Amino acid sequence: MLAVSSASLQELVLHQTDWMDGVNIVAPVLRQLTVSFSAMEKVSISVLAPMVEMVSWRCCYFKVSIVFGVWRLEQVTLQTAQTPGQLPSLQIHASANSIFVCEEETFMHEIEKHMIAEFSVLELHLETNGHVFGALAFHVLGMNRICSAMQKLKVILQRSSVKEGCSPHCPCESMGWRSQTISLTGTEEVEISGCGGDGHEIDFLKLILKCAPMLKKMIVKLSDGASSSDDGCTNIYNIFKAYSSVELYVYLSSDYDAYQSFSICILCRVNARQPRLTISMIVMVTPGSVVIVDMIILSRTTNSVTWS
Ligand SMILES: [Zn+2]
Repeated sequence: MLAVSSASLQELVLHQTDWMDGVNIVAPVLRQLTVSFSAMEKVSISVLAPMVEMVSWRCCYFKVSIVFGVWRLEQVTLQTAQTPGQLPSLQIHASANSIFVCEEETFMHEIEKHMIAEFSVLELHLETNGHVFGALAFHVLGMNRICSAMQKLKVILQRSSVKEGCSPHCPCESMGWRSQTISLTGTEEVEISGCGGDGHEIDFLKLILKCAPMLKKMIVKLSDGASSSDDGCTNIYNIFKAYSSVELYVYLSSDYDAYQSFSICILCRVNARQPRLTISMIVMVTPGSVVIVDMIILSRTTNSVTWS
């Protein structure tokens, strides 16, 4: 346990390589806090630093102890803005495997402990191993401090190269998440990376559209498998028919992380005056710039994407 109590401390930097079971800080004039530590299981956290402006916080969990269904909590990070214009973010890393313990309360409570500063972006880094992530995601999104603060949601799906898939009665599907209703009134942007266009991923996007009435922009970065088949893409376009106010960006290329080469992005925007017609553009995306190359019309009547 790290315990710091100081009336004059303005900056605290801690990189702990050994595991700790908690952090207790009382520092009324602290401005900058950098903490990185590992924990075996549940931690105890208390930070009293009302003047803090810069926070970089990271806790890694070693043991399989914080569990929600098939998901294990691996890391929680909280980062205030590093550059002007950047938004403060909370990042949750979890991985799925064959364990099944129903400890929703413990899981959510553990995440809550790390919310030691304000944030407006939530990032979910999920190693799915073929499992359905909707139940986990909507439980996290339903947490009071998250649904009230979140302006932007990023879901990063990490798929393994080995054969994925869960058993027919896998508990990842059994929690009725598809009928959940939560209110994400502050959420304006959602980005999902590694999306394969699978049924449960489409259901997740649909539910997000339903729960976030102020949503302006959705970015879908397809996984390699989805990029090579039309189905994943078409499934995604289809759900946007009913949401004319949302801009949908679909990235087909798997290069989007590296941006080494040009990647092609389809900007698909439903024209509100002519709802049957979708005006789209092919744009070339390079780091920091978007160049419009061509205007296309996307036909919604066929099952595949056609250009004209
Ligand atoms: Zn599963």
